[in-house]
Amino acid sequence: MSIDLSRETKSEQKLQVTDYINKVLSLIEKEEINAEEAAWITKETVDGFREHVNPGFLAYRKTVTKDGQFAAVEWSDNGACFKDVNGKEYIDCLGGFGIYNVGHRHPKVVKAVTDQLKRQALHSQDLLDPLRAMLAKILADITPGDLKYSYFSNSGTESVEAALKLAKMYSDRTTFISTTRAFHGKSLGSLSGTAKGMFRKPFLPLIPGFRHVPFGDIDMMRKTFETCSMVGEDVAAVILEPIQGEGGIILPPEGYLKQVRELCDQYGTLLIFDEVQTGMGRTGKMFAAELYDVVPDIICLAKAFGGGVMPAGAIVAREEVFKSWFPNPFMHTTTFGGNPLACAAAIATIGILIEENLPERAAVVGEYFLAELKKAAEGHEDKVQEIRGQGLMIGIEFHKDEIGYEVSKGMFDRGVLVAGTLINSKTIRIEPALTISYDEVDKVVNTFKEVLKQVKE
Ligand SMILES: *Cc1c(COP(=O)(O)O)cnc(C)c1O
Repeated sequence: MSIDLSRETKSEQKLQVTDYINKVLSLIEKEEINAEEAAWITKETVDGFREHVNPGFLAYRKTVTKDGQFAAVEWSDNGACFKDVNGKEYIDCLGGFGIYNVGHRHPKVVKAVTDQLKRQALHSQDLLDPLRAMLAKILADITPGDLKYSYFSNSGTESVEAALKLAKMYSDRTTFISTTRAFHGKSLGSLSGTAKGMFRKPFLPLIPGFRHVPFGDIDMMRKTFETCSMVGEDVAAVILEPIQGEGGIILPPEGYLKQVRELCDQYGTLLIFDEVQTGMGRTGKMFAAELYDVVPDIICLAKAFGGGVMPAGAIVAREEVFKSWFPNPFMHTTTFGGNPLACAAAIATIGILIEENLPERAAVVGEYFLAELKKAAEGHEDKVQEIRGQGLMIGIEFHKDEIGYEVSKGMFDRGVLVAGTLINSKTIRIEPALTISYDEVDKVVNTFKEVLKQVKE
């Protein structure tokens, strides 16, 4: 009896699950949704987050929306903007923390991915997959100096992991120097390089051998090299973001990166540039390394690398370094890294960046944006501490976290998304599509101005 009953319950459940799946699939299929469907999607999303994703997100996100509007649920995107289920459009100045360099769903990226999808989505894992080879060749061509060999991953974190493992294997050393306020990811390896105590503390001890020195302080870097050498813990690599992103858009002091390069050369240490956020045109050059005329031994890419359409990452290294992986190419692998869809997206993305001169555009529009934001903040020195940036990687630092939070919340209500959260809004980040129009920039600046006036201090 009881066996029968459970069987029936199980099959009933199955029926419900397939009904639910079909309903979801029918919504995915739709080009337009109506108000009733929008309400259903919102309810299912909020319930799903509360019951099955993580209710913590709700407490954290609903506060960013307007009174009474419980949660903004996104549904579609295009160009420099995305829309929520109710059709409200937002200018995306968070840009997925730097994913949308070529904009949301650039037609050429979408075309390359769908064309590839129609023929083959993933690779056999055994035959030679052509797009991997072609993308690697393109990367060797566009990356600085003699960077030549690529390993492909699915994310920034994975790119950093690969860089750390390659550095260990090449150098036979285990010490790494990272910097304060650095962000390199959250896997146990990459987190070792990340600097934020809150994210690290519960997981200590991490990979042994990591030392953090203040970003921009070349004397401390030199002393750390000296000390490590004295105690027989030679440094395998220094890992740095040329411009710190998560740390709050921190630009390196004049000459700093060159001096780090010199120290690395002096001690036979590799220099890893984590360009997951600064790469692919964001800062006004294809790679931030070019801004400072420094060639790293390994460069880490991800975020905008997949064109805002596919998750994709890579490291590109000098042959001398990468050849540690020649004898056994299986030393570090991932099933999906470098898959045909991701490679198609990355190839199309690089093509667009070059054809549409987007790095240069980031430099020009970024300069205008920065100047306009500074003008808008005039008279609000009691609230705004500093506005700084490079290309379309801009940070607005407030005197207090609360002011930044109020500003980002006010801008969100008026249709502009900036990076500023309940957890950290002292510096809000502006990283729009490099294709953003001047009209859109003006709209963002005017919104910022309006909101600044209303925020009390
Ligand atoms: C975002 C980021 C990472 C981590 O990338 P994920 O794709 O989130 O794993 C690593 N380094 C830098 C500099 C980043 O900005």
